[in-house]
Amino acid sequence: MEYFVNVVLPIPLKRHFTYSITPAEASFLLPGMRVSVPFGKSKIYTALVLEVHNTPPVVYEAKEIDQILDDVPLVNPVQLKHWEWIANYYMCTMGEVMRSALPSAFLLESETLILRNDEANVDESQLQDDEFLVFEALQHQSTLKVHEVSIIVDRKNVLPVLNRLLEKNIIYLKEEVYEQYKPKLVKYVKLGKEYLSDEALESLLETLSRAPKQSQVVLALFQLQSGSKKPISVSDLEKYSEASKAVISSLVEKGILEEYFIRKDRITYDGAENSEIKTLNEHQLNALADIKNAFSEDKVTLLKGVTSSGKTEVYVQLISDFLERGKQILYLLPEIALTTQLISRLQDYFGERISVFHSKYNIQERVEVWNNVLKGAEKAQIVIGARSSLFLPFANLGLIIVDEEHEGSFKQFDPAPRYHARDAAIVLANLHGANILLGSATPSIESYFNAKHGKYGYAEINRRFGNVLMPDMELVDYKEALRKKRVKGHFSERLLQEIEESLGNGEQIILFQNRRGFAPVLECLTCGHTPQCSNCDVTLTYHQYKNQLRCHYCGFHTALPESCAACGSPELDTKGFGTEQVEEEVKKLFPGAKVGRMDLDTTRGKHAYEKIITSFEQQELDILVGTQMLTKGLDFRNVSLVGVMNADSLLNFPDYRAHERTFQMLTQVAGRAGRTQKRGKVIIQSYNPYHQILKQVTTGDYETMFEEQVYEREQYKYPPVNRIIKITFKHKNYNTLNEASEWFSGALRTNFGGTVLGPEFPPISRIRNLYLKHVLVKIGKNESLGRTKKNIKRIEKSFNSVSKFRSVRVIYNVDHI
Ligand code: ADP
Ligand code: ZN
Ligand code: ZN
Repeated sequence: MEYFVNVVLPIPLKRHFTYSITPAEASFLLPGMRVSVPFGKSKIYTALVLEVHNTPPVVYEAKEIDQILDDVPLVNPVQLKHWEWIANYYMCTMGEVMRSALPSAFLLESETLILRNDEANVDESQLQDDEFLVFEALQHQSTLKVHEVSIIVDRKNVLPVLNRLLEKNIIYLKEEVYEQYKPKLVKYVKLGKEYLSDEALESLLETLSRAPKQSQVVLALFQLQSGSKKPISVSDLEKYSEASKAVISSLVEKGILEEYFIRKDRITYDGAENSEIKTLNEHQLNALADIKNAFSEDKVTLLKGVTSSGKTEVYVQLISDFLERGKQILYLLPEIALTTQLISRLQDYFGERISVFHSKYNIQERVEVWNNVLKGAEKAQIVIGARSSLFLPFANLGLIIVDEEHEGSFKQFDPAPRYHARDAAIVLANLHGANILLGSATPSIESYFNAKHGKYGYAEINRRFGNVLMPDMELVDYKEALRKKRVKGHFSERLLQEIEESLGNGEQIILFQNRRGFAPVLECLTCGHTPQCSNCDVTLTYHQYKNQLRCHYCGFHTALPESCAACGSPELDTKGFGTEQVEEEVKKLFPGAKVGRMDLDTTRGKHAYEKIITSFEQQELDILVGTQMLTKGLDFRNVSLVGVMNADSLLNFPDYRAHERTFQMLTQVAGRAGRTQKRGKVIIQSYNPYHQILKQVTTGDYETMFEEQVYEREQYKYPPVNRIIKITFKHKNYNTLNEASEWFSGALRTNFGGTVLGPEFPPISRIRNLYLKHVLVKIGKNESLGRTKKNIKRIEKSFNSVSKFRSVRVIYNVDHI
């Protein structure tokens, strides 16, 4: 009998490939194990086994696999089902899901670049011959490709040796993401192993008796070490022993002391669980009871609780319940909300049972967390992570918490799979029979809609913890202030007054200015009016090249108006102002204040972000100017004033979610104010203070906002009632792209009853030499999403059979947000 194995390759080609295997291999291999396989003329890939069977492929001769890479499955059957759902739902291949799901260390292939780890302490005598050859080659050459390794070890199949070197931390793999991230290392010292017994130490001190400085250091270290289990840094030792660095170095050289390094961000946690879980107040208890009730009916559950209402403490209680039952827990957060503030808060309760999974962590660490989850290790019973932590190999998952569930950044934009982590988490919970809680102060329209219609369970907390008052919100009519000349730069007198008062009281201030989106919009400087598309209810974007205003959904366009349609003023502007400008102005206006800025530019690299937060927390800064980064779950105790510089730039964002997002962002940023007994103040400046969304924000009227948004979305056929799929076409040739996208959208229109908008150029229509065009498909509530996707895939097939279209890339974004 012949044996075959179906595998997934990490490439965007069809679903799986078949290779031939020996009977022995067939009896060993299980789904979820990795094998290395040849592909094409000379490539090698790591592939994942889906199924072992006896049916030869029909159209091609099956090649043999190179080698089996695992003893036990790396990926479990639930994961494979989950991947399959993602591939189907988001219209991509299993290979693309696999590439996103597995840490790249698990996916060696012939194109992978191999680098030496300069920080590794390598004991050459411990290396096997082939490992040594690679190690040696990397002393002469900074990078190697897999096929070069193959020449060096004179063997075709090199993935095993590379896997061994990876495990020993001697090499790492190049991925652009990690290039910029240099973790900060702190140097620690300890006594050499030989000196750990009392006798050894005594005789050591004896031999050092003629070097008093040195014995002083040894004694100091001994005392420090016996006093605490914490690692001792070189600088601590220096201070405590009052000896110089040179003395310490000479002891290290003699081997009496040993140096080692720990990454700074890994030791924030010092080992002891020191907090008791808080006793919940009656509002929290009510919410908890409602959640448990809904959980008992296996319902996805939404917790809506105003900012600072104590949602996190409710999560803590739930986590502790599921821990007691021996279950794994996944705590999902948007990348940017994954701050040390939250992590150390949870570590205080749960200590070492927490693992953090972060895209900025390096490969080895991610592999470590993966393996701990796979083993069901205690260290990884609770995983806190951003969206990619969904893909960890949970075997015993009991609870998923999706915090800040309204956040748009849960949706992966590029590359495929373009999945929404919240929605994929709901499916994952379902596959595991686990419970899932979505939490937010400002739920997404979708989730609240589902809760209202009984599809989700629901719980709420409407007061801040400890009866702290919601901040007092005030709208400032900026147009009026401008007319009366009561402004300085971009600051109204009202805002200036409040800043002055807060500074006088020694309190801190946050100034929020959203960066403009990449799409410039036109704005009247007099009345703040921004032209809208009459078909789509979104803001028109300004296209400089054609001097037009265009809708990037439906293609509606109009010449650039010479004056404002609302007030007739000829002063129209396409450029807003950014955080940098606000920072400069505020520094001039308040020369005595210490001002910091937090936006994408100032927070490249993880530590930059933490540094700004820490210095604000420790009140080294009086005023923090920032973008929406400031809105994410941060808890600053001393902030009494939040100023929103310009609410209009949020409202006028060219997107059907602009109003929802404005409500969410402003509510969240306002939530940073007055988290202690003193009532916080929020000043919102706007050209258009009578805008209904701004009223709803200031009165905290989520309900009305929700009703109005749902009504509008039904009118214009957007989610939650309708579904949308965005199709993007990319090609280097302008004409080919036009022709191809017209052909495709034409076929869609003939085959499909729903609404097809476009093709339309986005505001930035050419990226890296490729032209882009979008088509938007709106699927009504009476049409089937599944059938529409099948239709689209069928059209793509005929599309690809037209030879001139074959090089056009077609990209699907299901539930595009
Ligand atoms: P949210 O997550 O809703 O923004 P938090 O959980 O951060 O709110 O709670 C706000 C503040 O109130 C925090 O400082 C938290 O420690 C405190 N707090 C919340 N619940 C309790 C409780 N039951 N007992 C004591 N302090 C609490
Ligand atoms: Zn105007
Ligand atoms: Zn339109």
